[in-house]
Amino acid sequence: MKFVPQSCIVCDLETTGLNPYRDEIIEIALLQLEEGRVTREMHTLVRPRRKIPVTIRRLTGLDDAALGAAPYLEEILPEAIRFIGPHPLMGHNISFDAGFLQAAHGRTLDNPLFDTRELARILLPGARSYRLSDLCRLLEIEMEGSHRALWDARAAAALYSRLMARAAQMEGKLLLHLAGFLTRAGSPWAEEMGQLAWQSRHSRINDRAPFRPSRVEEEAEPPRDPNIPADPEQLCALLEPGGPLATHLEKYEYRPQQKKMVAAIAGALAEEKYLLLEAGTGTGKSLAYLIPALQRSLKTGQRAVVSTHTINLQEQLWQKDIPMVKKALGWPFRAALVKGRQNYLCLRRWLHSLTVQDWTAREAAFYGRILVWARETATGDKNELNLTRDEQELWLSLCADGEACQGTGCRWFSRECYVTRSRRLAEAANLVVVNHSLLLSDIRAENRVLPAYGCLIIDEAHHLEDAATEQLGLSVSRSGLSRWLNALNRLLGRLSDVPSGENSPAWPALLQQVQEGRQRAGKGVELFFNTLQQLVISHCEKKGEGNAPRYQLRLRPGSKSDLTNDLQGEYSNLRLYIQELLSGLEKINSLLDDWSEEEIWAGHARDLSQVLSTGRKVAGELDCIMKGELDNHVYWVEVERGKENAAVILRAAPVQVNTVLYEHLYKDKKAIIFTSATLSVEESFDHFMERAGLNLLPAGQVMTMQVDSPFSYESQSLLCVVRNLPLPGEGSGAIYSEALAISLLDLAEITGGRMLVLFTSHQMLQETYNRLKPVCEERDILLLGHNLDGSRWNLVEEFRTTTRAILFGASSFWEGVDIPGPALSCVVMVKLPFWSPGVPVIEARLEELARQGKDGFRHFSLPQAIIRFKQGFGRLIRTEQDRGVVVVLDGRLLTKKYGRQFLNSLPLKSHIRGDMHLITRQIARWFNKESRHVSK
Ligand code: SF4
Repeated sequence: MKFVPQSCIVCDLETTGLNPYRDEIIEIALLQLEEGRVTREMHTLVRPRRKIPVTIRRLTGLDDAALGAAPYLEEILPEAIRFIGPHPLMGHNISFDAGFLQAAHGRTLDNPLFDTRELARILLPGARSYRLSDLCRLLEIEMEGSHRALWDARAAAALYSRLMARAAQMEGKLLLHLAGFLTRAGSPWAEEMGQLAWQSRHSRINDRAPFRPSRVEEEAEPPRDPNIPADPEQLCALLEPGGPLATHLEKYEYRPQQKKMVAAIAGALAEEKYLLLEAGTGTGKSLAYLIPALQRSLKTGQRAVVSTHTINLQEQLWQKDIPMVKKALGWPFRAALVKGRQNYLCLRRWLHSLTVQDWTAREAAFYGRILVWARETATGDKNELNLTRDEQELWLSLCADGEACQGTGCRWFSRECYVTRSRRLAEAANLVVVNHSLLLSDIRAENRVLPAYGCLIIDEAHHLEDAATEQLGLSVSRSGLSRWLNALNRLLGRLSDVPSGENSPAWPALLQQVQEGRQRAGKGVELFFNTLQQLVISHCEKKGEGNAPRYQLRLRPGSKSDLTNDLQGEYSNLRLYIQELLSGLEKINSLLDDWSEEEIWAGHARDLSQVLSTGRKVAGELDCIMKGELDNHVYWVEVERGKENAAVILRAAPVQVNTVLYEHLYKDKKAIIFTSATLSVEESFDHFMERAGLNLLPAGQVMTMQVDSPFSYESQSLLCVVRNLPLPGEGSGAIYSEALAISLLDLAEITGGRMLVLFTSHQMLQETYNRLKPVCEERDILLLGHNLDGSRWNLVEEFRTTTRAILFGASSFWEGVDIPGPALSCVVMVKLPFWSPGVPVIEARLEELARQGKDGFRHFSLPQAIIRFKQGFGRLIRTEQDRGVVVVLDGRLLTKKYGRQFLNSLPLKSHIRGDMHLITRQIARWFNKESRHVSK
């Protein structure tokens, strides 16, 4: 294989931080690579003029002593620059290294830059991470270590060779197409791909078309097996020590709680009842419902559906739990994973976008990745791709969205279409795994999305109300409208390329008129959303709202003082422009209908009718929100904070979803299981039943049950409530903030970091972070902040793998964070997690309860906070080996009457209370006792 560039310098630097003008280089490694082989190396440490920050010391192992004898940068830089010469520079995230070299050199480096990270993103579109070490692990490249310049430079060189070898295996046509995308994207790798295409032994003229979707062999019908256990007792026997699960599964542990859950679910399904089942952490819920659901389906021939809230749990069921059940029990069942349409690639849109070649640079870079992935995927599921936020937006123009689907009119519909495939697999399956959004969109589509099913298991059921609120509402965004106008622009471009001939002499003028209408509408969209954005920001800032990632402002369309009144001018114009545009499109549409006997016009007619129907829908929804036309709905606007082209979304949602759920989800079903680790409040399910509409079912139809966790919370954990911190809202914010920072630092000293701190406000999180960051640096503690140091996934990974670390999280960190083992030994809840009554949906629900004469705090705010509190508590103990402390810094737990309800809802019945001094002593004693216990 011929390598291009044939000669280049692989470069890696270690630095004291990320800013090339503030931070300093502390290590340089340069390798000359010729024809894929290293021919020269230069490596040196560099002495900085500032202390090495603790994060860098931990990352690289380099400290002030190690660098004390190294040359200063000015002594070594000329040699490095000479070594590089005019050669192209290559490296992992090379623009970072080039930026530092340029800043140090004081001049622009003209050398072409080849980024191995970018190459990996193109050629490995499904890799879960593009960190150098993760890629090396994925491709089985041996690394000497990481985060040292020489090791990383060598690893980048090896990664480059491995990736190019991979590209060399691709079909010539595909490589040529990839080169086309990369050229449009301005990527230096374009030339490499083009050259490889011609070198490739696969590049014969009659290459198999690489863009044809693969056909998936469907599983044969499973044989009927009469030996499926018939009753709950026989099912429970499968879980016993010595049973098939224990025999076939490596890490299986017998848990009586899991057996109890299986018996209860099997009983409820057999008796056709609704069961609310709260199962403590560690019960093994998934297996406990999969087994009876499958048994029921195999016995009755009726399909079972399992719905989860998160895609993570859906994937865990699909990739781990279902194969485990299949392996252990050997039952002849078929399962299918079904997601919402937007998760799948639309083949028609994708293949069309390959031909039109009117891509922007952003699109071309994205399409290059899709091209590589699309030839391999069997599911077309975007979850196989690692998409950036920007790419998620671009995905919307390729996905199998219902608005864009031509249904039976599409040539791919009957076989290759990924949506059709997934629906077909679902129809043939005994068990279908979905998420709550899809389950609820099935309600909205009057059960045309999912095949009929006999029993339904709703896991993570405490999210059902919020998922229904989200799914049954409306939303119109700036980006959605812009996407629609872009799609229209492209279509108009294609239409103007086709000569209408004798068909209609007025055709060019009509197209021109519509194009002008589109431009007017585009300006109208910008003006409307920019004005809306400014109004929301100034409104929220006047109210002194905290720094959550989004501003949220309630709208009350029709009321005199509402913000929608200030937008009437912009909205009237926008509405008029959209109406004019739609009527112009309707004229084009009727002409195309007349000409649609010719194939070329028929295709355009289909595209246009989709653009039209999307336009009508968006215009209708926008009107509906601006006029507040829906009864019992709450309206609001969300604006992303601190971004130039921020997301601006207008929303409407039903205030109550209980009757909709009852009418459309429960009423006609015979058996539904609702499960979660947090459904009850003080052992009562009333709150959940009321919110989810289960109280509307006949009495006696709904059963409830609690299954305790197998963990011994009394011995594995310690709960501490601190009483001497100022109560939230008392005294000045600065006093509270100072006291909070000191308390956290005291705790971190005892626990050696290993601490997750849960906040209820982003503002408080950031203030505390800013106070503690420098102190933590001095004390060799790594402090990680939600929205401050990276994505949630990266933060959790970094926390998990660092010895002395504190992780600050808000909102989403209260649940779903799973860090077993000693990496997490202390969970701190800064305040009791009451939702802010200013959140539009919460405010509207409280108003609705007040209208019904109910106390909103008792009926809604308090139980919701208790459920979140239980979730937060549940972050600590994830396995039977885990040990640790939970500290609550909110004294209201002791001083308010409702505090007892929080405490009574936890699986741990005892706690210690006192001032911070006493608590820290007790925690120190507890950890000492624990470490003696472990060392015995
Ligand atoms: S049937 Fe619909 S979703 Fe499927 S490929 Fe065709 S247009 Fe796309």
